Amino acid sequence: MALRTLDTLGSLAGKRVIVRADLNVPLKDGVITDDGRVRATLPTLNTLINAGARVVVCSHLGRPDGAPDPKYSLEPVAQRLSELLGKPVAFARDTVGESAHEAVAALEDGDVAVIENLRFHSGETAKDDAERRAFAEQLATLGDVLVSDGFGVVHRKQASVYDLAQLLPSAAGTLIEKELEVLDRLTESPQRPYTVVLGGSKVSDKLGVIEHLLPRVDRLLIGGGMMFTFLAAEGNKVGSSLLEQDQIETVKGYIATAKERGVDLVLPVDAVVAASFAADAEHVVAPATALEDTPFGASGLGLDIGPQTAEQFASVVRGSTTVFWNGPMGVFEMPAFAAGTRAVAEALTEVDGLSVVGGGDSAAAVRQLGFADDRFGHISTGGGASLEFLEGKKLPGLEVLGWQQ
Ligand code: ADP
Ligand code: MG
Repeated sequence: MALRTLDTLGSLAGKRVIVRADLNVPLKDGVITDDGRVRATLPTLNTLINAGARVVVCSHLGRPDGAPDPKYSLEPVAQRLSELLGKPVAFARDTVGESAHEAVAALEDGDVAVIENLRFHSGETAKDDAERRAFAEQLATLGDVLVSDGFGVVHRKQASVYDLAQLLPSAAGTLIEKELEVLDRLTESPQRPYTVVLGGSKVSDKLGVIEHLLPRVDRLLIGGGMMFTFLAAEGNKVGSSLLEQDQIETVKGYIATAKERGVDLVLPVDAVVAASFAADAEHVVAPATALEDTPFGASGLGLDIGPQTAEQFASVVRGSTTVFWNGPMGVFEMPAFAAGTRAVAEALTEVDGLSVVGGGDSAAAVRQLGFADDRFGHISTGGGASLEFLEGKKLPGLEVLGWQQ
């Protein structure tokens, strides 16, 4: 069965349409630091507004403990949404209570309301089917149909993502449609050369994707914190860099598989080694085979790929026709360790073909480094979801919408 899209819902004029969006934006002192996810919901919302629907937007934000917590209120997000849509957006101070019902009842055709954080209720993420279902039933009273468009949460079996889609007529929004179209191109006969760049903090987060992609890609470039587990697997000392000792054997297996299959598994030849984990830490460049031969000895921390590696990775990326990148090459949050991430991002913008950035921190990194979204083929709004998709896993929030891989 194919994914049910908006057109399968028929005329939406005058109907109450619940939109499960992913408005889980990073906030600092109540201010949104990256509104990419809010922007990503606009096409679906504008389509519904123009169709004369009464739009009820819901989302989670952060990880509140299943109870209201003002720190995680969606109110600033509703305000931002109103600015971006260029029209008033009502905000309900609860999720399924009196305020939500009042806000929905007051909607006219083409109006938009945002209800409070779904995770203020423990039912949203409950493992217990009955508890989750009960919360979904309360949500269902707020709408006539559901448009599921929170791509970042489709790998979760949660009330608003999974159960609600079975209680109301439901379909995917245009964001999910677009995400799947791009991810499909990465898994179904990608144009070659096909390069995957992986970085970020932990190998253990990305084992599944490495295993699934290894036989499919032409080149796999490894940077970020996970590079040190690979370098250690090759017999190098890595000082006090991030190292997952318990993954060394698994990683050795990947290195062997890559050799057998003729996949170019490229590890860094140098790294930026720092005296401590701090923005102003003293740092030097060291060869990957001599990471402890610096003034900091065994206490040195590798916080970025080195300049030679950055140049090599950039040139491989530029010479590829399909590129998927997940995970920053270094601790990009600190300018001294952002050069590797910047070089790879820059190279991605020069790809003649399809370039995809996936992962929450990776998306934040390219924006923070000043790259405009439209310089990439696609920036996925879902980190975990896009990785699980590429791992070939079944995603419950997509299966309920009729989609099968
Ligand atoms: P994404 O969210 O894009 O999937 P991850 O969550 O896996 O990415 O990793 C992002 C984090 O990895 C960033 O906060 C970055 O600082 C960190 N990181 C990258 N390289 C290193 C390194 N060498 N040492 C420690 N942390 C690192
Ligand atoms: Mg992350």
